[in-house]
Amino acid sequence: MTINQCPTCGSDRIRKVHRKWTGVFQGQTYNVEGLEFYECPVCGERVFGREAIRKIEAQSAAFSGSREIKKTA
Ligand SMILES: [Zn+2]
Repeated sequence: MTINQCPTCGSDRIRKVHRKWTGVFQGQTYNVEGLEFYECPVCGERVFGREAIRKIEAQSAAFSGSREIKKTA
């Protein structure tokens, strides 16, 4: 996947970045190490490729699968 133009603002300054992604799924924070996605420095738009989405889903699915909430109170 190659993106040369930001789909939001049309800037050609959008770049592929490789960094740790921190997301929130159902109120829980999760991290995806070394996620690759496009980020526009002009408007802040982020574009995720298929591989990036799969990594995010793999991490967030781990939380949706653990529905046991133990209350220590
Ligand atoms: Zn943009």
